[in-house]
Amino acid sequence: RTLFSLHKSQEVEQTYIMIKPDGVQRGLVGEIISRFEKKGFLLKGLKLFQCSKDLAQEHYKDLKDKPFFPKLTDYITSGPVVCMAWEGDGAVASARKLIGATNPLQAEPGTIRGDLAVQTGRNVVHGSDSPDNGKREIALWFKEGELCQWESVQTPWLTDTD
Ligand code: GDP
Ligand code: MG
Repeated sequence: RTLFSLHKSQEVEQTYIMIKPDGVQRGLVGEIISRFEKKGFLLKGLKLFQCSKDLAQEHYKDLKDKPFFPKLTDYITSGPVVCMAWEGDGAVASARKLIGATNPLQAEPGTIRGDLAVQTGRNVVHGSDSPDNGKREIALWFKEGELCQWESVQTPWLTDTD
């Protein structure tokens, strides 16, 4: 790897994806991870984690004035979650499409929420809504050293050279 390509790879977009406690309890961890794997994004970090109320509140701080905020933070702290960082060009917007609409009844079939959930308050998965929030959320949920620098053998078969 040249310095140039290393430098370039640090700018590749990353998104924070989290399987919420209902997804873990319902045995959907493999199914949900599989959708991002099969799409062709690069897994940079992965852990099962029980989060604190403080962390849940910080993660969802933009929603702190919503009436459902206390319920939301109870939900996110109600059991372990699976934290993931996925990388790739356009990963943030593409992951949002794979996840589907916030309300699973409005989410298209073929999306994670469209296929696997029925209620907004139990919609099994989170995905960052912008590249900046991707960075913010990955920094919030992962410690330094928890992300891996690696190259997938699939990359040359997923991307052309120009
Ligand atoms: P997302 O980006 O699609 O996850 O949706 P938002 O950022 O708008 O909301 C964050 C999360 O809060 C959603 O995924 C839901 O779990 C939850 N949420 C949003 N709206 C409601 C609501 O009206 N009621 C309840 N109970 N939860 C909600
Ligand atoms: Mg959101």
